[in-house]
Amino acid sequence: MSASIAVAGAVKSFGDQRVIDGIDLELAAGSVTVVLGPSGSGKSTLLRAINHLEPLDRGVVTIGGETIGVRLRTGRDGTQRYKELPERQILRQRSRIGFVFQHFNLFPHLTALENVAEGPVAAGVSRPVALRRAQDLLERVGLGDRAGARPRQLSGGQQQRVAIARALALEPSVVLLDEPTSALDPELVGEVLGVIRSLADSGTTLVIVTHEVAFAREVADHVVFLDHGRIVEQGPPAQVIDTPQHARTRDFLARVR
Ligand code: ADP
Ligand code: MG
Repeated sequence: MSASIAVAGAVKSFGDQRVIDGIDLELAAGSVTVVLGPSGSGKSTLLRAINHLEPLDRGVVTIGGETIGVRLRTGRDGTQRYKELPERQILRQRSRIGFVFQHFNLFPHLTALENVAEGPVAAGVSRPVALRRAQDLLERVGLGDRAGARPRQLSGGQQQRVAIARALALEPSVVLLDEPTSALDPELVGEVLGVIRSLADSGTTLVIVTHEVAFAREVADHVVFLDHGRIVEQGPPAQVIDTPQHARTRDFLARVR
């Protein structure tokens, strides 16, 4: 089941640098959102805030209506504040949020199959069932015949497809992808975008940080352009990519296209 994502009043600083500077987002269940923006604009921090890898200083993230990482507490004097959830609960929430990293982050000593099955096994799924599902997921990303290979025996594009299969292993309600093709040789980008496209078609809620503007134009329902931790503009791709309203968006698009 896919879920909606809401970010409300998000603020995050590192030292005295405000990296997320008041972000509000409402993403419908099953929608595909592409986040564009220059390097350092806060894209990764925003994605990491959504799954509470990077807790916000202020603001709140909800997925399918469930608040992520924190819970609202009303003090004796009536003031309301958020309190961090216990680690175990955060891990349970995070297990329902698939995350795909720029540098794949596979376990080098495990096979492709074991990399995909590892999460479900840790979550209590029996090993035979987890391995069978992992094999199905590898087939889905076109790697059914490479199940026994270790990451170093696979191309970057294949490794990233294993990482996508792994992100799907716990049947997440949303999948976040942080520059999934930026580390790949150009000739390997297409195969990974193809897998992401089929994921988009399957109705999973996706948030993708990417500089692949043509791909964004094709798969996104919603495009968000970030700069200096703020949303400069957002809307359907035909609007943000084809007729950007802001000079900063136009400059960025001219540089990446
Ligand atoms: P983007 O993904 O758009 O390139 P990031 O979200 O990674 O941007 O980073 C935004 C800014 O926050 C950058 O200036 C970066 O150096 C800084 N930053 C990110 N993570 C940390 C961290 N853990 N500690 C300190 N500064 C950070
Ligand atoms: Mg980044």
